[in-house]
Amino acid sequence: MTPESVGRSVARDRHPEPAPSGEARRYVGQWVEDEAIGPDRVRAFVLILRTRGCYWADVKGCTMCGYSKDTLGRSATPEELAEQLSRALARYHDEPYVKVYTSGSFLDDREVDPASRAAIVSAFSGKARRFLFETLPEFAQPEGIGPLKDAFAGELEVALGLESTDPTVLGRFINKGSSPAEYLAAADRLSALGVRTKAYLLLKPPYLTESEAVADVVRSVREAAQHFDAISVNPVHIQNGTVVEWLYHRGRYRPPWLWSLVDALREGAAVRGGSRLVSFPTAGGLPRGPHNCGECDARVLAAVQEASLAQEFGPLDALDCGCRAEWRTTLAYAPLGVEA
Ligand code: SF4
Ligand SMILES: [Zn+2]
Repeated sequence: MTPESVGRSVARDRHPEPAPSGEARRYVGQWVEDEAIGPDRVRAFVLILRTRGCYWADVKGCTMCGYSKDTLGRSATPEELAEQLSRALARYHDEPYVKVYTSGSFLDDREVDPASRAAIVSAFSGKARRFLFETLPEFAQPEGIGPLKDAFAGELEVALGLESTDPTVLGRFINKGSSPAEYLAAADRLSALGVRTKAYLLLKPPYLTESEAVADVVRSVREAAQHFDAISVNPVHIQNGTVVEWLYHRGRYRPPWLWSLVDALREGAAVRGGSRLVSFPTAGGLPRGPHNCGECDARVLAAVQEASLAQEFGPLDALDCGCRAEWRTTLAYAPLGVEA
């Protein structure tokens, strides 16, 4: 079985039916989390809007991404987006860092029309210091960014899901539609427009061994650091309806060990140049998320969070547990039965 044939068998049924209007008036999720802006510890207001979702998920989709379950199957109207925003603003308490996601690209007009985009950004202007959103690189263009810079008095930060700077890992194992070079060029374009940039890197895409996954992140940190202000390492967690889940159910994929994340951060910190390096894993310590033995997971996750906020990675060296020896024996495991 090849990565392509696994992808075809999983892709068939992951697109939602067009949603009724009631659902379109409710955002997907909202929470507040710890973050940092430079040396300042701050609270971050996170909002996931419900939109038509990522167009690439309709075309082919990425092997680890199950976000299409949170989408509408059609574009949200400006009125529906305005109601989602107004419900979210009722919960906003002037947190300095605001992150707005769409399960796709905030700058894709099919997901968020330009007027709604400007209205969303300006709703936080004068209150938040930094506003982050995510987009695919093809939408990171001056005509999309310019109005948002005008609408927001603070700092705009654009996140790009670069995942890996290795063309084979990105194109064949993750199945992204753009090359690493296109992501790096988009980051340079955004920097030239005076926008802060953040790269998401994926720890342990399918078809890599544990040690190959660490090496892939470290190499990607070194290359991305020349183009991005910040780099976030996101360990894979198993989302429903994905190729990764298909492999997981057949015993051909284990989410990354937290020890691999620790190694990726320690080695990545040495090659990150002036970029911030952070990791705030999703589903950490759970069977479908990055995990160790169960005994040490909470301790390791707390240390990773503190290292990310403080930008001090030395304390990670002091972490240890009996399961570290077991992790070492699994480093070279190849995924069974898959021709990579
Ligand atoms: S990972 Fe990003 S580009 Fe890939 S399908 Fe999901 S939302 Fe789209
Ligand atoms: Zn342990």
